[in-house]
Amino acid sequence: MELNERIAGISPSLTLAIDAKAKALAAAGEKVCGFGAGEPDFDTPEHIKEAAAKALRDGKTKYAPNDGIMELRAAISDKLSSENKLSYKQEQILVSNGAKHSLFNIFMALCREGDEVLIPAPFWLSYPEMVRVAGGKPVFVSGTEAHGLKVTASQLEAAITPRTKALVLNSPSNPTGMVYSHAELRALAEVAVKHNLYIVSDEIYERMVYDGMEAVSVGALSSEIFKRTITVNGFSKPYAMTGWRLGYFAGPIEIVKASSAFQSHSTSAPNTFAQYGAVAALRGPQDCVTKMVQAFDERRKFFHERLTAIKGITCVKPVGAFYMFPNIASFGLSSLQFAEKLLLQEKMAVVPGLPFGADAHIRLSYACSMANIEEGMVRLERFVKAL
Ligand SMILES: *Cc1c(COP(=O)(O)O)cnc(C)c1O
Repeated sequence: MELNERIAGISPSLTLAIDAKAKALAAAGEKVCGFGAGEPDFDTPEHIKEAAAKALRDGKTKYAPNDGIMELRAAISDKLSSENKLSYKQEQILVSNGAKHSLFNIFMALCREGDEVLIPAPFWLSYPEMVRVAGGKPVFVSGTEAHGLKVTASQLEAAITPRTKALVLNSPSNPTGMVYSHAELRALAEVAVKHNLYIVSDEIYERMVYDGMEAVSVGALSSEIFKRTITVNGFSKPYAMTGWRLGYFAGPIEIVKASSAFQSHSTSAPNTFAQYGAVAALRGPQDCVTKMVQAFDERRKFFHERLTAIKGITCVKPVGAFYMFPNIASFGLSSLQFAEKLLLQEKMAVVPGLPFGADAHIRLSYACSMANIEEGMVRLERFVKAL
């Protein structure tokens, strides 16, 4: 069949393929030790659920305004101003069906045919596919392990061509768990200013930072940077609301308007009563987030210690998000082979690094119990010893 070339060219998600195999094994009665999860293992806090349930009972069951309900956009504007030092008016905010949807809307609005988008690698696997579907061209810049898997300003600068349109930043990062410092971000942003690029800043993991690290919003660094920054965030990760499908972005009004028009013809506004839950998430108590982050931090320390005690495995210590991204190159297998063998032999599910642009690595999520981490490290050690 002659399909749309842009869609036909998308690689199917390798993560989902491994996940399907793990689920099939579990269904067959195997005790699968899973590290694939890209979502918090906690339930959504009760007060957030109650606010959505109340909205539902109150008849908030009709279409919402395309850009999101006013109460939510006001709450987002307040949050961005008080927590992130970013001053966005309500009309500069578009609420969508998850931050993933926000990103897709942004790339659709931003990319002209052949426009290049700089994506630091390792990257979240959806960025390149979104850019391609939008008609743009992803250009990868790889962070080295010596530099904590982060990219430098000079690396970025070397990748710029007359077609470069935008730069994607994701700090804290999925999959590496790395966080850019104030100074590092400023250096990257200055390259963007110098070359007239937009910065798409995916800040979905901003609350998950450890060891005294601070997640800085790049748009807050200067007014020059702010003018070209599109700030993306959502509810999935901080409030354990992945299934609610709510995210947002804030940025220059032209991009918001174009994205809004596109959204109005594709999905319309996101779920109405879910948005009332999101208002409660932003306006309500934040200790629920703090508690979840503390739990992640405990697991992170234990996990990293056990993981790096295994011979042949090295892993830069993550200071953000909830993933370990160890290097497994010493075993002589591709990340796909490693992940498949590990699943087959030890019934342990991890995500290969290949779709994140890092075939020497695997990704292990610690959005799981301590007991799961403990058991997983026994299995992984046994597995690599037998290789
Ligand atoms: C989970 C995730 C998102 C999007 O999550 P939504 O559920 O669509 O809000 C965006 N970026 C990164 C890096 C993620 O890990």
